[in-house]
Formats: sequence, C-alpha cells, structure tokens
Amino acid sequence: MSATTSAIESVLVENRVFPPADAVVKAARISGMAGYEALCKEAEADFEGFWAKQARANVQWSKPFTRTLDESNAPFFRWFDDGELNASANCLDKHIGSPTENKTAIIFEADDGAVTKITYKELLARVSQFANALKAHGVAKGDRVLIYMPMTIEGVIAMQACARIGATHSVVFGGFSAKAVHERIIDAGAVAVITANYQMRGGKELPLKAIIDEALAMGGCDTIRNVFVYQRTATACNMVAGRDKTFTEALAGQSTECAPVAVGAEHPLFILYTSGSTGKPKGVQHSTGGYLLWAKMTMDWTFDLRADDIFWCTADIGWITGHTYVAYGPLAAGATQIIFEGIPTFPNAGRFWQMIERHKCTIFYTAPTAIRSLIKAAEADEAVHPARSDLSSLRILGSVGEPINPEAWMWYHKNVGGERCPIVDTFWQTETGGHVITPLPGATPLVPGSCTLPLPGITAAIVDEMGNDVPNGSGGILVIKRPWPSMIRTIWNDPERFKKSYFPEELKGYYLAGDGAVRSADRGYFRITGRIDDVLNVSGHRMGTMEIESALVAKTDLVAEAAVVGRPDDVTGEAICAFVVLKRSRPTGEEAKQIANELRNWVAKEIGPIAKPKDIRFGDNLPKTRSGKIMRRLLRSIAKGEAITQDTSTLENPAILDQLAQTN
Ligand code: ATP
Ligand code: MG
Repeated sequence: MSATTSAIESVLVENRVFPPADAVVKAARISGMAGYEALCKEAEADFEGFWAKQARANVQWSKPFTRTLDESNAPFFRWFDDGELNASANCLDKHIGSPTENKTAIIFEADDGAVTKITYKELLARVSQFANALKAHGVAKGDRVLIYMPMTIEGVIAMQACARIGATHSVVFGGFSAKAVHERIIDAGAVAVITANYQMRGGKELPLKAIIDEALAMGGCDTIRNVFVYQRTATACNMVAGRDKTFTEALAGQSTECAPVAVGAEHPLFILYTSGSTGKPKGVQHSTGGYLLWAKMTMDWTFDLRADDIFWCTADIGWITGHTYVAYGPLAAGATQIIFEGIPTFPNAGRFWQMIERHKCTIFYTAPTAIRSLIKAAEADEAVHPARSDLSSLRILGSVGEPINPEAWMWYHKNVGGERCPIVDTFWQTETGGHVITPLPGATPLVPGSCTLPLPGITAAIVDEMGNDVPNGSGGILVIKRPWPSMIRTIWNDPERFKKSYFPEELKGYYLAGDGAVRSADRGYFRITGRIDDVLNVSGHRMGTMEIESALVAKTDLVAEAAVVGRPDDVTGEAICAFVVLKRSRPTGEEAKQIANELRNWVAKEIGPIAKPKDIRFGDNLPKTRSGKIMRRLLRSIAKGEAITQDTSTLENPAILDQLAQTN
C-alpha cells in the first residue's frame, strides 16, 4: 500500500469512542473487556472443549453428542454430529414447566395497529397443531416446505411446525415475484407451500396466494402436493380443489399435542436463498444443532438478554435476520418479542418510535437502510421525529445488514438511544447463521461505523489474496480461519459452488466472507469497507466504496444516501462514480451540476482530492434488494453505460435504473 493511501486512510480514522457505562458493565452477562477476553482465551486454549461446553449448556439434546467437530471432509464440516435434538422443542417445550410457559412469547402488531399477544404455552399448542396438520398431509422428516408468508404469528408457527416434524423449510420473502418463487420451489424440490391469501402492508392488501398460483403454473413444480393458505384478510382467493387448504380446513380436528421429531444435529433445519446483492441467489443450507446453539448464545451475548426484556428485531422472516433473531433465537432464549406486520412509514414515519413507546421495547434491532430513511423523514417532518415518542424503555440498539455510516450511527445514538444505549453493529451473513463480529453491550467501547471485534470462538482475520495476515491498519479480505457451529453447511444442490465461493484454495482453507475490511491500528477493531469487488483503484490508490459513501452522507444538511462504484477510466485506471439521494427533491440541469460540484469539493475536503467522484448522479432512490441493500453491481453497469443483463430477480425498485442511467 502506498504512502498516499495510508494518508487517505488516516483522515478517516474515527476518533469518537463510547465506552459502556459502569453500571451497564457491572450488570452484563459478559462484563467488561476482561469478561470478553477471558472467553476468547478459553476458546483459544481448547477450541472443541469450548464449543462442547456451550452446546451442552445451551441446547437440550434428546441424544447427547460425543463428537464435537468432524473436519475429515473439510470444508463440509460437521458439528455435534452424533447428537440428536429438535429445534422446536428447544424453542418451546423447553419452557414448559418453568415460569416462562405463561410469559408472552410474541406481541404482534398488525399493519392497522391491532395488537395480539401469545404466551409460550399457547404458541406450543398452535405449533403442535399445525405440525399435526402437515403430518396429516404427508409432510415428513426430510421434506422441503416453501414458506411465503407475511410477518405474522402464523409465519413463525409455520417455520416452527416444519422444524417440529423435521421438515426443512425455505422461506421466501413475501415481496418476491412468481419467477423467484418458482425457481426456489424447483431448486429446493419442495412438497408443500405455506402461504396466506393476502398480506397487509401500508394499508394495502397485497396478494400472496395469487403469486404462488402463478409460480406453480410456470410448470415443473410437480413435487408440490399441497398449498396451505392462511386467511389473513376477508378477501377470497382462488383455491384449487384437493391441492389447496385453508389453515382452518387443515387444522380441523388436529390435536394440539405433537411429539417433536428428534433429528441428527446436522439435519438441515432450513435452506435460505441469499439476498442477491452480488449475483444469483445461493441456497444456503443450515444445520439444526450448531445453528440453534449460536442463535441462542448470540441472543444472550450480543443483546445481553434479560428475563424482562422486550426484544424487537424488525427484519422480515424472509431474511436470515428474521430466522435467527425472530423465529428461533428469541424463542430459544425465552424472550418476549415484538413482531410487526407493516412498514416503518405507515401511517407515518414515526411508527417505529411510537411502537417502541407503546410496547416498552428494551432492545431494538434494525437496518441502516431503515435508519437512513427515518432520518430523512424526521428531518423533513418534526411530527415523526423520535423525540416525539417516549423511548426511555430502550437499553440496547442494534444495526445489521450493511455498514452503518458514522453519521447515521451518531443520529441513532443521539436521537433514538438518548446517548445512553450501546449500539451493537452486528456484522454477519446468511452464511454465518448468526453474529460473528459485533460489540458486546456491557464490554466493548464503541466506535461509530465499526463492528469492533469477533465474538469468542470466531477466528475472524484480515488476509491478503494468498491468505497471509495483513497488519492492522492495512485493508484486506475478511476471512474466518476455523469452522464454527452455525456456519453454512453447503449450497443446496451445488456443493461445488459452495467450495469455490467460500473456500477458495489460495486461502489456506479459510472461510471467505466476500467482504473487504480493515482493522484499526490502535484497537484492532474491524471496519467493513465493502464487498471485495467494490474496492476501487484510482491512480494506484485503493479505496473502499464505503469510505466515499460515508464522506458523502456526512454532508448531513444535503445528502440522505449515497452509493459509490468504479468504472474503467483511461487515465486513472478507475474513476469514481457516485449515485446520490438528497434530502430535498432530485435536482436537474444547472442546479444538479452546481450541487455535484459542491459535493465533489466536500469529498476532497473530507478524504482528499483523489477521492473526488468524477461523475455524480442524482436519484429519488437507489436500486436496492428487497432486504434494503444497495445493489452496487447494477450501478457498476449503469456507470459504464452498459445495458443491464444481470439477475435482477431480487431488485425492489426496477424503475429507478432508468432514472439513474440519465446523465446530468
Ligand atoms: P448475496 O450474498 O446474494 O450477494 P447479501 O450478501 O446481501 O447477498 P446477506 O447474507 O443478507 O446477503 O448479507 C450479508 C452481507 O451484508 C455481508 O456480507 C456484508 O456485506 C453486509 N453486512 C451485514 N451486516 C453488516 C454490518 N454490520 N456491517 C457491514 N456490513 C454488513
Ligand atoms: Mg453475501
């Protein structure tokens, strides 16, 4: 790395540090950095012993395991593989006979504001009854079931019921098209679909069953025998006689008791297709034992969960975050959680803050994309500002899904967390099953924009293209050196792609995350700099797209969001192209030129002239996946002036591509 690059990076050193308050440290499960370091040492001294001890303490095994880790067929690692368990029993049955049985498991707030609560005991009865209905329709251990449901208690019931009988679920986000559903049904070889007639979002009734019908009509879905339809709204939908059953029909006469089916620890609990930010979605296959272990442990560690917490993860069950921190983790940990059906901007953009107040939420976990859009909304309209709600119940905030820009972090900290709540910026992936690099609320001094340090037992590191460690302060490739229990087991139907994507030979058998990162020189903290293919090289200077985006977003009076990509340039090798959403309306003509100039000068001042975007374009929005992530690969094509020929099946807002293709 050249001296100039180091100079560029030194400007970006984040000096703000927020240590946890003494009282928080004292009360925490992992108390202070000493507590954190002790656990790391334990894992280092006896890796398998550490995990075996945790697996015995945190999971109820119907047959105890005797082998902890089997590396004989690496990278197809096996954990606890002669043990048996049931995931649903570990989330529900486990609490029966303890005070938790009558505790509220889920506080459900519907789109229209109606609130329904369900206790652990009631949830167990409903999961068991639905599991019996699935069995009665011939769904058995090892079968795959596609779930296409709105955010509802029934969505969680569907997942838990599959787990209860050993069926592998594959949840598809309710915003995906028939084509995406069709591909996933075929790839997974699903025998049944669980869906709803409609879903309610933002006051609108949106069809789900009709999309399933369309997908099934595309052909090749002969494996599907039944479609179970939850009647979310009173509106009728098409039902195919024999094949389709309403929940009411399927549940009629079914007992509310159903013995959980014990499965081997490596039995696939679910397949989940990644969000597609970087290419064709991959069917990530997860295990039962190792996955559940980490879901439970990270609830306790990252969120420092207590018996009286009201936990709220805003992610949809269609994403990994909604699997681990809605459908499994909170239940395995015996938490009370909020599930929200609707969208953050309905009936107004104060909905999240009003709900925190209404339900006395203590732990709030959301995504940077939501935070950025709510900042924009709060600044435009005082009535939806978080200050209008009583947020004093909050004690911990979380962020997930993308790097959070330091300025968005500061706003979240100040306006939502009242400068009192630690923010856990959790770095992880569909493939990692749960958090891997994250602060601990009662231990880690926080630095805005940094996911700080790996959890104990996670051997995260930064290496070069040959797998050699790079010193702190230099950027490189993020890897995890040793396997961990909740890691991806394979790509469904494609073990070769699994090996190639995640365990490339040059990297010494390390797990390749696909993200670039840098560790700070002083604390060794990790900061994610963007996807590996998002690193820019301008006149020989390597820069992460994230640095420039954060600099643009730091112009807080003007910029709401920014995405930066490179495009080939004859002179500089690569030129920087920035796509910007302003807090005001989209400028055109002379005005656009003037604002673009202002932003260029701003970046020059914040980072250095080398980082000045050559091209700045304005849009009403950015192309995002349905989970809210910016799709930079599409922006790269636009920047080059190419037609888009890539997979756009997971794109939320296709119309935006044309707008961004226009030059000023
Ligand atoms: P695909 O793999 O199909 O391209 P995806 O990577 O967007 O899709 P996910 O598994 O949902 O699918 O997202 C994981 C990625 O999200 C990480 O690799 C990283 O790029 C980003 N990410 C998640 N959390 C954080 C975080 N706290 N800080 C920085 N980046 C994060
Ligand atoms: Mg990914």
